[in-house]
Amino acid sequence: MSPTLLERMLIPQLRRPAPPPSPGLYPFDRPIDDERTVRYHLRVDGDGGGLLVVNATACARLTPSGMLIAHELLRGQDRDAVAQTLTTAFEGATPDQQRQDIVHIHNLLRELAEPGGRYPVFNLADPSAGAQAARLIPPIEADVPLAGPDQIKPLLARLWQAGIAHVTLLAPPAPDSAALLAAVQAAASAGLICGVNGCASDLASGRLLDDLIEAGLDHLTLAYAARERALHDSLYGEGDHALAEELYARTETLALADVAQIPLIQATMDSLGATLAHLSGLGVTTVQFFAIAAPGEVGAGAIPAAAMAQMAADVEEAAERAEVLYQWQPPVLRTASLALLDQVRRGPRCSSDLAIRVEPDGTVIPPRGPRRVAGNLLHDDWSTIWQDAAFKAYRGRIERPTRCLTCPGLAICAADCPREPAGWSQE
Ligand code: SF4
Repeated sequence: MSPTLLERMLIPQLRRPAPPPSPGLYPFDRPIDDERTVRYHLRVDGDGGGLLVVNATACARLTPSGMLIAHELLRGQDRDAVAQTLTTAFEGATPDQQRQDIVHIHNLLRELAEPGGRYPVFNLADPSAGAQAARLIPPIEADVPLAGPDQIKPLLARLWQAGIAHVTLLAPPAPDSAALLAAVQAAASAGLICGVNGCASDLASGRLLDDLIEAGLDHLTLAYAARERALHDSLYGEGDHALAEELYARTETLALADVAQIPLIQATMDSLGATLAHLSGLGVTTVQFFAIAAPGEVGAGAIPAAAMAQMAADVEEAAERAEVLYQWQPPVLRTASLALLDQVRRGPRCSSDLAIRVEPDGTVIPPRGPRRVAGNLLHDDWSTIWQDAAFKAYRGRIERPTRCLTCPGLAICAADCPREPAGWSQE
C-alpha cells in the first residue's frame, strides 16, 4: 500500500544517507508581488529536516523531503526540476504523490507569508510540532543582553553558524542608543531575524524606533503588566504605561510586529482578562507570559506552586477568549533576596523553551533549571554545547512525558509541569 502524504512527509525513505541541502541556515528573499518581498529562513538539522521560518512571523517544521522541496522551490527551481531532485534523493513515492507534496510545500510557503506583522509563536505543544513534539529540537532563538558592537558582532556570527535564526536583544534601562542601533544593523546584515525587548521608557525616545526599523528591526517586545496604569507603573516606573501604549500605536502605523510580555504575579492575574482584551483592542495580538512562582503555598505576591496549574488554565482560557496568540516562557523561581519588583523587571531567562540565553561574553545557559553554563558560543562548537551536561539535564526534563490525568491538558505542560519548582528557572 502506498504511504499517505502525511506518512511520506513525516517518514521519508532515503536513497542516500543525507539528501541536500546540508545542515545549516539558508536565507532567501523572494518577491511575492511588485511591492512585497518575503524573507524565508530554512534551518536544516542533522537529519535533513528542520524549520522553515517565514518573515520572522511564522514557523513550520519540515521533514527531510519537505525541506528539500522548500529549498529547491526557494532556489527558483520549477516543479519538474524539483520532482527530478526528489526522485534522486528519495524513493517510495509515485510521480503523482511527488506532485502533491510539491504543491503542498508551495502552498505552505505562500500561506505562511500571508499573516503579516506577527511574531513567531511556537509553544512546544503547537500542532505544527507534529508527531515529534516530545523531542526537543535545537533552539531557534537566542536572548542576548545588549552589549557594545565589539562583543555583539562575533556573537551574532556564531549564532548564524549554529543555525539559530532569531536573536532578541534585551535592552537594559537607559540603553546606549548607538549600541542598540549597531546591534540591530549587525543582526540584519548577518541575515538574522532581530527583535528588541525592553521597557517602553527605555525605547520611546525621539526617533529611536524609526531608526531601529530602518536598521532592520523585525519585532518589538514591550513589558506590559496590566491594563491598569497604576499597577503597570508601580512595576515599570511612572509614565511607562502611557509610553507603551504610544509605542504600540506607532508599531501599528509602521507595520512592525509587536509583542506584549506580561509578568504573571498575583496582582496582574486579577485583571488578566481585561488586560488581554485591552491589548487586543490596541492591535497587540501576540503575548508572552512568564510566571514568578514560589514553591510554598504563599509566595508574597508570586504564584504559589500549588496554584500554577489553575493559573495556567486561567491564562490559556483568557488568551483564547481575547483571541491573542500566546507563548509560554519558562517560569521564574521567586528569590527571597530580591524584591518582587526587581524580579519582574529582570524578566524571564529566555523567550521560550526553544530559545537559549547567551550572555555578552558568549556564555550559554539553557532556558530552565539552575543557572548552569552549557559552554561558550565564542569558543565551543554548537554540538559540544548541545551535548553538555547542562543541556542534557534540561532535555531530560523537557522530553519526559508530563501530561497526566490529574489536570486538564494545558499548552504549558508540553515543556514541563508548571507545578514543579525544579523545572523553573532559578537565577
Ligand atoms: S504536567 Fe500534569 S500535573 Fe502538571 S499541571 Fe500539567 S497535567 Fe497537571
